[in-house]
Order: sequence, then C-alpha cells, then structure tokens
Amino acid sequence: MTDKLPPLREVIKSHDLQAKKSFGQNFLLDLNLTGKIARIAGDLSKSVVYEVGPGPGGLTRGLLENGAKRVVAVEMDHRCIPALEEVSSAYGGALRVHRGDALDIDEPDLLGIQADEDARIASNLPYNVGTMLFVKWLTLDKWLPWYKSLTLMFQQEVAERIVAAPGSKAYGRLSVLAQWRGRVRIAMRVPAAAFTPPPKVSSAIIHFVPTEPLDSRVALADLEKVVAQAFGQRRKMLRASLKALDVPALELLEAAGLEPTLRAENISVEGFVELARQYGLKRAENKR
Ligand code: SAM
Repeated sequence: MTDKLPPLREVIKSHDLQAKKSFGQNFLLDLNLTGKIARIAGDLSKSVVYEVGPGPGGLTRGLLENGAKRVVAVEMDHRCIPALEEVSSAYGGALRVHRGDALDIDEPDLLGIQADEDARIASNLPYNVGTMLFVKWLTLDKWLPWYKSLTLMFQQEVAERIVAAPGSKAYGRLSVLAQWRGRVRIAMRVPAAAFTPPPKVSSAIIHFVPTEPLDSRVALADLEKVVAQAFGQRRKMLRASLKALDVPALELLEAAGLEPTLRAENISVEGFVELARQYGLKRAENKR
C-alpha cells in the first residue's frame, strides 16, 4: 500500500470510530488483506465500484490502490464520513461517499455509470443486512443486471450456503437463487482475528458473476415460489412439501420429470428451473 494516508488504527483513533454493534461494524485494518480482496474483484481500471459500508475505509483504499477508476460508497454511520473524505482527497476525488441506508439505494441512479465504464460491487457487508442486499442484487427484474460482478464478505456459514451443492445440508433457497443467476465461488476465507473487533464466527469472500438465464421462459416469481415451498419443509418428500401450491403436486412433478419421493435438497438447480417452468405453464392453463 503506497497511499500517503495514515494507518487505519490512527484513522479510527483520530476520528473516534469505535466499532458499534448496532451498525454491524467489524473493521479490517490490514491494508495488505484489503488489497488482496480488491484484487479478487478483477481489473478495475474501467470500473465504477459500488461499496456498501466503507467504515474507516480499509477496503475502499484497497480498491482505489488497485486502480479502481472510481468508487461510490454508501455508509450509514455519519462518524465515518470525515475520514472517508480524507480518502477521497488523497485519491483526487475518485471516491464519492453518500450517507444513507444501502437497502434504500437505487444503485444505477446513484452510480451514474458512463458508457466507457462497467460497474462492480465490492463490499465487506454488514452482517445484519448482508443477505438482504445479496438477494436484492439477485432478484433485479432486468437480467443481465447493471453490475458485472459481486465480491462480497459474508459469515462463512452464509457463504457456504450460497455455493452449496445439492445433497448437502447447506443447500437451500439461497444456493438455488445464486446458482440460477450466475457462477459463484468462495474466493477466500477470512479468520475472525482479521477483524477489529473480531466477530464470533469466521468469514469468507464470495465472487459472483451473473450469467444469461438457464431458461429465459422461467419467471423469477415462479422459481421463488416453488423453491420456498420445497425448502419450507425440506425433510418432506416433494409430493408433500409442494401440496400447498395452487396446482396439483403430482401432476407438476410428473411434468417436470421429477420423482415425487425426492426431497428438496436432492433437486439440482436445473431441476428447480424446470419445476418452476412447469408451474408457470400449469397456472397459465388453469386461468384459461
Ligand atoms: N468496509 C469496512 C471494513 O472492511 O473495515 C467496514 C465493514 S463493517 C463489517 C460494515 C459497515 O457497514 C460499517 O461501516 C457500518 O456502519 C455500515 N453499515 C451497516 N448497515 C448499513 C446499511 N444498511 N447501509 C449502509 N451501510 C451500513
């Protein structure tokens, strides 16, 4: 790290940024580590990077140091803003900070992505809203979405659910949604000791790249509905767990080519996509 800014411990001291639990604050103070995370996001020279929760600016500095064309950050804690303004000055205004709640942000509107730029999201997410934000970014109506990749820190248990394969305990709604929408992998594991203060659990970085839909005839709402039903009672066979749907479960399973005695955790992402497609068709038939 070659920027002329003070070490993060000093930034925290001089701006009185003691971590607050209510904001889900666990800071990364090692700029070598934040540089490594920034590199997972890829070549950023043409990118506007959206960062949620920059805090004292460790990952932000990593992103800028690794050549991000510009960074737009949303931070809820007003105490962090003056420290982040110093980062912005040190990088010639390449950082723009907006104070607010990331759940309410219309990102393309805030980012103003130019024709010669792509957009990426990179963030050490606050754990209390991390999954909600991830689901928000996976369930956008327009797909492919406005961003090229996501590089996100989660609690390890959540990261494992995101990448889980069928047949494993961790496989569930989040796995199907993420793997339906793109390619996803765990890029790095980060021990609790890397944070100040250290959280109770370890963390992991996932890297997600959106892909074209497996089957563009499938509606997101239909997929969410069948997956929610199937995993809502994950120990039951599909013929029972899908009973509450508004089409007959056995007919639906037969049309999708799935054994009614299987359980949700045995169905591949492709299997769920076919189930959702058949569900959409049967509902449309019933309406006629
Ligand atoms: N990026 C910093 C780092 O890596 O050291 C801080 C990460 S800390 C886990 C999460 C940050 O998100 C905190 O700075 C917190 O104030 C901020 N935050 C929490 N909830 C938020 C929300 N809903 N919208 C925007 N920022 C939020």
